[in-house]
Amino acid sequence: MFYSFSKFLKSNYVRILSSKEVEDLKILTRVFPFKVSSYVLEELIDWENRYEDPIYRLIFPQPEMLKPSHWNELKNVRGFEEERAIVKRIRLELNPHPNGQTDNIPRIGDRLLGGLQHKYRETVLFFPAQGQTCHAYCTYCFRWAQFVNLDDHKFKSKEQRDLFDYLSLHKEVTDILFTGGDPMWMSNEKLFEYFDVLTHSELEHVRNVRIGTKVLAYYPKRFLGEEGDELLRYFEKMVSDGKNVSVMAHFSHWKELQTEKVHEAVRRLRNAGVQIRTQAPLIKGINDSSEVWRDMWTEQVKMGMIPYYMFVERDTGAQHYFSVPLARAYEIFTDAYSQISGLAKTVRGPSMSAWPGKVLVSGIMGEGNSKKFILKFIQSRDPDLINIPFYAEYDPEAIWLNDLEIEPSIQQAIDEMKKKYQRTPDEVSEVA
Ligand SMILES: *Cc1c(COP(=O)(O)O)cnc(C)c1O
Ligand code: SF4
Repeated sequence: MFYSFSKFLKSNYVRILSSKEVEDLKILTRVFPFKVSSYVLEELIDWENRYEDPIYRLIFPQPEMLKPSHWNELKNVRGFEEERAIVKRIRLELNPHPNGQTDNIPRIGDRLLGGLQHKYRETVLFFPAQGQTCHAYCTYCFRWAQFVNLDDHKFKSKEQRDLFDYLSLHKEVTDILFTGGDPMWMSNEKLFEYFDVLTHSELEHVRNVRIGTKVLAYYPKRFLGEEGDELLRYFEKMVSDGKNVSVMAHFSHWKELQTEKVHEAVRRLRNAGVQIRTQAPLIKGINDSSEVWRDMWTEQVKMGMIPYYMFVERDTGAQHYFSVPLARAYEIFTDAYSQISGLAKTVRGPSMSAWPGKVLVSGIMGEGNSKKFILKFIQSRDPDLINIPFYAEYDPEAIWLNDLEIEPSIQQAIDEMKKKYQRTPDEVSEVA
């Protein structure tokens, strides 16, 4: 069962909260999307200690996510129309569309394919229309604009046709990444329609089918029971037909790994031949300690999963509330990384999914005025830049690539990339 906020208000859980908390949530959920599964409410949240509980903070918007000026406006609002306008303005102030994602939308001739993104040569992102929601919403989500109806820019799949046409023209693509929202929100029937497209002999070059999802954390039952059986049998068939099936599982905290259901779901996926790689952003107040990551990666390996990325929180939404400075992120990563088995050291981070590519903070060097960040691209629009170390001036408060003064020759390469890839305003409005 899944709860919208109005449904949550009618549940027994609401009685645990104080009336002040409920009143605050009524206002917060006008701006931020809210949804939660009964599984998260029942099995993951520690209600007694909710102020410190990472899962509570992951799901329930916190008062500090809005600035004091926003609170004033929302408390004094008169009438529905005025409220709508204010909510819309606040959402737009929260940078709902970080760093030019429209620049990644590919085309065939002059046909724009709005449900796809193609940024790095090997991997195409696919946004199936029915997967643009999740089993619960994360307070820190960077895709949040897709859930609140802002939008013009909602990435929607027109049809399987686009997927087939584009992939069959692009033999360099080895990976398709189903993303959202959460593609596992879709019914088996719908999912299989998309997967079936990939079995076509003209798409043999697409060897790796990835599914980006938080369903293992929010609703592991998706892989259990009859529907789960049917899904796993389908995965098994894909694997025996020669595709690699990889679940890119979003886990924010080791607390999400403790239930019998998630263990069972992971076991079943692995038995079906599915690989599970794990990733999450580093978020203040939720997982900003090296112990949390150490224990999470250690447990994931024990369960047979492969730690993959630690991300830096994106420049969107309540970033002022959730962000961790790059210098601190590096420290947390390094401290956790130094306490884990080599089997967990498949993880990379902290990594920023920035406009020019995935940028890894791989070191801090020097002292005083000559202190520098050592960075490198793990992924880039320009493959020549990948894995080449470069520096940026050290800044203890920097939270994103834009805050950094980067080595001039690399900055120049990034500027060149911008000229090449940035869409014109006309093209952007065409996409919308
Ligand atoms: C992260 C990402 C990918 C996948 O990158 P890998 O390093 O291969 O996991 C693909 N496309 C976009 C836009 C991404 O952000
Ligand atoms: S699961 Fe992913 S897409 Fe869904 S709300 Fe969380 S971060 Fe956003």
